[in-house]
Amino acid sequence: MTFPTSQLLYIFKNNLYENLKFSLKLQLSERNAILKFQNEKFIKLLHHAKKNVPYYSEILNGINDINDLAEIPFLTKHIVKERNNDLKATNIPLKHFVENSTSGSTGESMHFFSYKPDDYSEACAIRGDMLTGWKYGEKKVIVWGASRDLDLHEGFKQRLIKKYIHKFELLSSFNLSIKDIGNYINQIKIFEPSIIIGYPTALFLIAEYIIDNDLSVNIPKGVISAGETLYDFQRTTIEKAFHQKVFNRYGCRDVFQIASECSAHNGLHVSADHLIVEIINDSGKVALPGEMGEIVVTDLDNYAFPMIRYKIGDIGVLKDPEFECGCGVKLPMLEKVEGRTMDVVVGTNGNRVSGNFWTLFFRHEFEGIEKFQVFQEDINIINLFFEVNAAYNSNSESKIKKEIRLLLGDEIDVNISVVDEIIKTETGKHRWIISNVSPYAR
Ligand SMILES: [Zn+2]
Repeated sequence: MTFPTSQLLYIFKNNLYENLKFSLKLQLSERNAILKFQNEKFIKLLHHAKKNVPYYSEILNGINDINDLAEIPFLTKHIVKERNNDLKATNIPLKHFVENSTSGSTGESMHFFSYKPDDYSEACAIRGDMLTGWKYGEKKVIVWGASRDLDLHEGFKQRLIKKYIHKFELLSSFNLSIKDIGNYINQIKIFEPSIIIGYPTALFLIAEYIIDNDLSVNIPKGVISAGETLYDFQRTTIEKAFHQKVFNRYGCRDVFQIASECSAHNGLHVSADHLIVEIINDSGKVALPGEMGEIVVTDLDNYAFPMIRYKIGDIGVLKDPEFECGCGVKLPMLEKVEGRTMDVVVGTNGNRVSGNFWTLFFRHEFEGIEKFQVFQEDINIINLFFEVNAAYNSNSESKIKKEIRLLLGDEIDVNISVVDEIIKTETGKHRWIISNVSPYAR
């Protein structure tokens, strides 16, 4: 592994070099070695949490290793809010706490703390991006929305560090107008990144612009979709525009990188050396491989504010543990990440419909719907918001209502509003579906 000299200082100072070297080697080791390392980290975290974190000293009695994991109560966002102080480790110096928060998809925010000396999760994030063939030190463009990450008010020095040490250029995904997209494409061409990372809704708009204007943008290593659920129609259009494969990356502000798609495009490799991922079905039990359920994570590197069996708010499916990925990486895999737990719409007839159905329904069966949002206000009220173009015909509304009632129940009230712009979340994400009655969002 070689690094450009401009980055050596940064990676050595932050202990990143050792972690990255170790984690790159570990992902190619036998599965048993990876799980052994995971269990050792878990036991170390357990001891620490029992001894130094008031909330966990109450609930971790009798828990000794990863085999007892299923006996630990889930950590919900509600508990994080209620017991915030009790979740802080009493033995960690204040300077190692980094205040952090999630915006919450429905506007409610959750405060928590990251652990400053944790370089391992950063190494895992870099390793995940390297699955595209990108090497640390090669340039990347990031199209991102969270203002915290964009730091628009940062000084000249920080901008230089980003550009010349970390070798990335940040572009805001807020209010992507046609003019912005044209400018962005010029900036991308000048910067010549090896990869592009961005919200799929933003990458999709850029991709459509490239196709519509018959442009050619060369991104040699691929495009990483991150931050939002990636839908099939987005993947297809982005791949067509860039003549490159899309790599899905799953992570969040709370626990950083979780899993990344590899060059075999068979699913996403979980950073099992940074966290434990479980899938929990409707009955609260560990789901079988292939069975959909709620994603629950244990962050093995956050010693300041340990999160054990944390209900992250997404649903997904684990891949069969026997599956051996063609790329050679032995980290366990997620088959897919299906979206937010609040993305599941429930009918009065008991039918459940998640993200990919709605994108197919609106994008392929009806003309002119550019963007939509399905908001299930209550079990029998569904409000639809559309951003439309000239091809849209309001006559199709009665057909939309009829088909939704057929699928979800006759009693359902379907209201359709055509709007100029569907409101984005605080971090600039587009929410396609919000359900107040999702069975997973408890
Ligand atoms: Zn793979």
